[in-house]
Amino acid sequence: MISTSDLISSDTIVALATSSGTTGAIAVIRLSGDRAIDIANAVFKGKDLLKQETHTLHFGTIRDEEVIVDEVLISLFKGPNSYTKEHVVEISTHNSKYIIDQVISLLIRHGARAAKAGEFTLRAFLNGGLDLSQAEAVADLIASENKASHEIAMNQMRGGISSELQGMREQLINFTALLELELDFGEEDVEFADRSEFMQLSTTLKAHLTKLIASFEYGNAIKHGVPVAIIGKPNAGKSTLLNALLNEERAIVSDIAGTTRDTIEEAITIEGVTFRFIDTAGLRDTDDAIEAIGVARAKEKVAAAKILLYLYDAQNNTADEVIEQVKSFRREGLTAILVRNKIDLEGGHFPNEMDDRIREELFEPGYVAEIIAISAKDANSVAALTNSLVLQIRGMVSDDQQVITNIRHVEALKQALQSMEDVDRGFDLGISGDLLASHLRDALRHIGTITGQVDVDRDILGTIFGKFCIGK
Ligand code: GDP
Repeated sequence: MISTSDLISSDTIVALATSSGTTGAIAVIRLSGDRAIDIANAVFKGKDLLKQETHTLHFGTIRDEEVIVDEVLISLFKGPNSYTKEHVVEISTHNSKYIIDQVISLLIRHGARAAKAGEFTLRAFLNGGLDLSQAEAVADLIASENKASHEIAMNQMRGGISSELQGMREQLINFTALLELELDFGEEDVEFADRSEFMQLSTTLKAHLTKLIASFEYGNAIKHGVPVAIIGKPNAGKSTLLNALLNEERAIVSDIAGTTRDTIEEAITIEGVTFRFIDTAGLRDTDDAIEAIGVARAKEKVAAAKILLYLYDAQNNTADEVIEQVKSFRREGLTAILVRNKIDLEGGHFPNEMDDRIREELFEPGYVAEIIAISAKDANSVAALTNSLVLQIRGMVSDDQQVITNIRHVEALKQALQSMEDVDRGFDLGISGDLLASHLRDALRHIGTITGQVDVDRDILGTIFGKFCIGK
């Protein structure tokens, strides 16, 4: 774990940068610090690394005295033109645990120290190579498993969020400066800061902050997978649908009502968005103790879900039943998609009156999105459903919107918004300029903690960088 002393450490650090224990051909060992090139040079036989240009590649051997440990390629990056802004040497060795251990202990014997988790990225941050939100995005990028989370992390790492926040900070700083200038003039009662202009700025900033805060719901869903609860009466076809979605037989499918006793969770990625499907026990009143637990769990799962897929079919459900059950799950933040299953059994005769009633009773903005008719046994018709799922999620943010994925960021934004509201209230109440300026400074500070422009608590740095793996 990163400690306070690591924040000022000038040691040269070393770690395996590639993942250990894999069967890949090559491993990369990374050194960073003032002595990185010296230390590498002391164990390398080939060209004299001290005389080489930055961003060059060198073939040679790593030797422990006269014993050749490995044939390697060395990449040289002279500070400040490196990830950490220090001298960095990357040694590509053959990927043998024995070789890696030998090379690292040899480098340690020559003066390097084993790096802690996140210490390379911490140095990149401390030396100004990355701001804090970019450093956090590096961890997200490494963890990203699908296109959508990769896109967001890449944008954040390349400074998308930082530049947006910087824009807001500059506007606030300008205004605060004018307000503070007024205070310097004290008694003279001058107004440099145009109040109506400020009210406009404040409204814009608050809208901006609110939008960013709202994007977290999407960002979080993308990062951790969108939880989708599949609910319906026993035999509605929930397991069959899950299997069709997963395209393999993992859930138990059976004609006996109540076979799917436990909940089963499976993640699949559709068009770059990961959905976590939850299969649940059928919804019905039951005396069966195990089943009752299953039903209770179904309700819990819906409580944790972002999307509810409610399955029914014209043979086994009445419109009233569907309406009542779907209504019972209604909650802020939950979107329901109604899925009329088994249309192959309708013989081309769709009971439109039933759906019309359901539509009339249930459709309202923000809850029930649509009714989709499918046959869970037919892959083509299931595609209509997956399209709808993706649309629901993609529709949560506009294309050019910055997306917040980090709980620390969203908390800071909420506090900044609170401070801006304090400013507005202060204006309404006609509070003194210095109090207004102090609320503005609060807002600035909260925004600044996201990128680390203002001092961030050392414990927080420890937590952020501690989440990285060693070597990053
Ligand atoms: P669950 O209790 O909701 O999980 O329902 P199951 O997935 O176990 O399905 C119950 C029965 O309905 C099984 O015999 C399925 O083969 C059948 N079934 C599911 N979907 C369809 C469908 O679209 N068409 C037809 N004809 N049968 C289906």
